[in-house]
Amino acid sequence: METGLRSTQTRETRRRIILFPLPFQGHINPMLQLANILHTQGFKITIIHTEYNAPTHSNYPHFTFNSISDRFHEIEHQLPTIPAPDPGHFLNYLNRSCVDPFTDCLTGLLAESNKGSIACLITDAGFYFTQAVADTLKLPRMVLRTGSLSCTTAYGVLPIFSKSKNSCFNLTTEDLDYEATVPEYPLLKVKDVMKMTINPKSYGDFLTNMLKQMKSSSGIIWNTFKELEQPALKTICRDFPCPSFTIGPLNKYFSSSSSSLIEQDKTILTWLDTQAPKSVIYVSFGSAAQITKSEFQEVAHGLVNIGLPFLWVVRPRVVRGSEWLESLPERFQKEVGDRGHIVKWCPQQDVLAHPATGCFWTHNGWNSTLESICEGVPMVCSPCFTDQPINARYVSDVWKIGVLLEDGFERKGIQMALRRVMMDKEGEEMRERISCLKKKVNLSLKKGGSSHQSLKSLIDYISLL
Ligand code: UDP
Repeated sequence: METGLRSTQTRETRRRIILFPLPFQGHINPMLQLANILHTQGFKITIIHTEYNAPTHSNYPHFTFNSISDRFHEIEHQLPTIPAPDPGHFLNYLNRSCVDPFTDCLTGLLAESNKGSIACLITDAGFYFTQAVADTLKLPRMVLRTGSLSCTTAYGVLPIFSKSKNSCFNLTTEDLDYEATVPEYPLLKVKDVMKMTINPKSYGDFLTNMLKQMKSSSGIIWNTFKELEQPALKTICRDFPCPSFTIGPLNKYFSSSSSSLIEQDKTILTWLDTQAPKSVIYVSFGSAAQITKSEFQEVAHGLVNIGLPFLWVVRPRVVRGSEWLESLPERFQKEVGDRGHIVKWCPQQDVLAHPATGCFWTHNGWNSTLESICEGVPMVCSPCFTDQPINARYVSDVWKIGVLLEDGFERKGIQMALRRVMMDKEGEEMRERISCLKKKVNLSLKKGGSSHQSLKSLIDYISLL
């Protein structure tokens, strides 16, 4: 997309920005999109990345890459074996294992560059350890926060992470009222928060460090747009001393296809071409969430019973303990025929933009949520962990552009939710609301729009660092 902003830097005066993404799909995509945007604004780009989930260098011949050792292989085998998600464990590990290699790499890059030629470092907000490194090396550090503004404000007050004494979360699991609202953040129910992690201690430590070092940074770049999250933006501007730049949705500038870690099956677009407008249910639970065998089977039954065409992304090992489709119900393929297609990974943005796509059954990762909004596709929400339950509440209860599966994966509930979005008047109203948001996205990116203005301010700001 044309940003409409003109670079003031000449070939000789171009300064360099060093970026450091967290090595997960939902973090790599927006960071590389940001890198491309900054490149179009005249900056030279260096990416420091971990060996784990390294981006494909050949897709970015205009960038310089530096790989660092992360020792992630020492714990990688735990990813599928941990029975429930403990994201803090992996994130805190990376924040320890990368300290020395990252410091050495950055020190080397600074040593071989001319004074002042590196404008700043931009790291994922989740790499909280980098603030101390940047301070020591006297390099300004900005952060890219790949999650929503609203979820960041929620993290700041949720008692499960802030060790508050009178918190309802201090009860034993049997005594918890899962349907009760959380007093500190009434939009959320206790069950939403319980879903975020099985280990509030490790995740709470991660979030506390992340928020603290975001506040110490030179500025925060948000993958969102002002019109979507105005109240949360107000809170952030009040509570965070550094400037905030809401320049998103980043996927509107550059597609995430070139940073995909898994090969995207593009053949599916030909099948979509044969389907009626808004008739297909697109199902995907992103790059990290896992479901159990019985949940997988409920999804399959729900899709059989609804009787509508569907495209289902079943990522290898998304089902705990299975390699791929082993647990599909016996008669599934026969009952579904050509009405349904299963692929390992797809070009999601193209699928959402396709006229045949009528609804997105999603885990509500922030990128997926934004991509759905950008294409005006209403959602059915099955959040699994981390920020997903918060995003799902906003989708269903605040923006009212989707239906949340309150009782998890259960075939009757699934069928009802899909019916509400695909066939009922209620679904039409959701489509109208999300189409309205889609228009707001497009306006915000046009000259004079909020994201366009914010990007201009960001470029001016970095130029003065
Ligand atoms: N994605 C994709 N193909 C797929 C499913 C997802 O390219 O079949 C992309 C999607 O477009 C998004 C990212 O993977 O940019 C997933 O990020 P998100 O924040 O939604 O979820 P996460 O994977 O981090 O849980």
